[in-house]
Amino acid sequence: IKKIAVLTSGGDSPGMNAAIRSVVRTCAYMKVDCVAVYRGYQGMIEGDFKPMDARSVNNIINKGGTILKSARCNDFRTPEGRKTAHDQLVKAGIDAFVVIGGDGSFTGAMIFNREYNFPVIGIPGTIDNDIFGTTFTLGFDTALNTVVECIDKIRDTASSHNRLFFVEVMGRDVGHIALNAGVGAGAEEILIPEENLGLDRLLESLKRSKESGKSSSIVIVAEGDKSGKNVFELKEYVEEHLPIYDVRVSVLGHMQRGGAPSCFDRVLASRMGVKAVEALLEGKTNLMVGIQDNQLTLTPINKAIKGHTKIDKELIRVSEIMTT
Ligand code: ADP
Repeated sequence: IKKIAVLTSGGDSPGMNAAIRSVVRTCAYMKVDCVAVYRGYQGMIEGDFKPMDARSVNNIINKGGTILKSARCNDFRTPEGRKTAHDQLVKAGIDAFVVIGGDGSFTGAMIFNREYNFPVIGIPGTIDNDIFGTTFTLGFDTALNTVVECIDKIRDTASSHNRLFFVEVMGRDVGHIALNAGVGAGAEEILIPEENLGLDRLLESLKRSKESGKSSSIVIVAEGDKSGKNVFELKEYVEEHLPIYDVRVSVLGHMQRGGAPSCFDRVLASRMGVKAVEALLEGKTNLMVGIQDNQLTLTPINKAIKGHTKIDKELIRVSEIMTT
């Protein structure tokens, strides 16, 4: 392998730049050429490439988003689109790529690898932490810090007015952000898709909170929660059934995807980038870099996509004890 391409694809997350930097610098260190692909698979199809050297990635480790831009690309879902992408890579003399993205990006990489036997390695970049084969995805830790900071601020105003807040956080179909940030910010209740405890229990718990003398309450609701009600409907429901509360809603939204990556994400990205390039140079392919028990691991991409992440039961128990 003489020339490795790096791209970011799908939803962006903090730490992607640190991973790009790591891939580029590892290539420089190993004396293989490195090329950046702009705008994910769209840029691959268009041949939007730029040669990178160690100095091309100065001062980006601390930046959120991705300097290479990201994109959703429907053409890559078609055999014709992938054929064009392959032609562009061959024309540019690229013989492997590292894709930083989520399960959609990995699915594309896997199909491409199958069709052209083209060496690919994935690095999981998503705040949702919903990828199997790694305990942490890039951006998850940063998003948690952002959410906790926001909830701290909401708590200030909630307790000044004795209010109840429903705070919706991201996470797609999983409750990792909600559970971890909920424990970290001391939420009264955490509603996650993995555990649907029912609305009666929520009312019970809120009633108890009030009776025990709590001056404010924060309920974290994962966007994928399966209670059957969104945050606004939850507000109405509680106001109707528990009129003792003055209820407000806050949907944190895309701010959770932005911001400077935490030190944890920067270090993780640096480690994963090295591992990805090393894996390619060792002739490995179709694998995703992960971290498990603080060891870097390689998981077949098809397993990473199909596997289900597990919610931390022990942490659920801790959250239950903490809300006593
Ligand atoms: P993420 O990587 O964050 O999950 P997406 O699901 O949008 O984001 O996927 C990113 C891109 O990966 C898509 O825009 C598309 O180009 C490519 N992709 C996703 N699924 C497939 C697929 N089944 N076949 C080919 N390419 C795909």
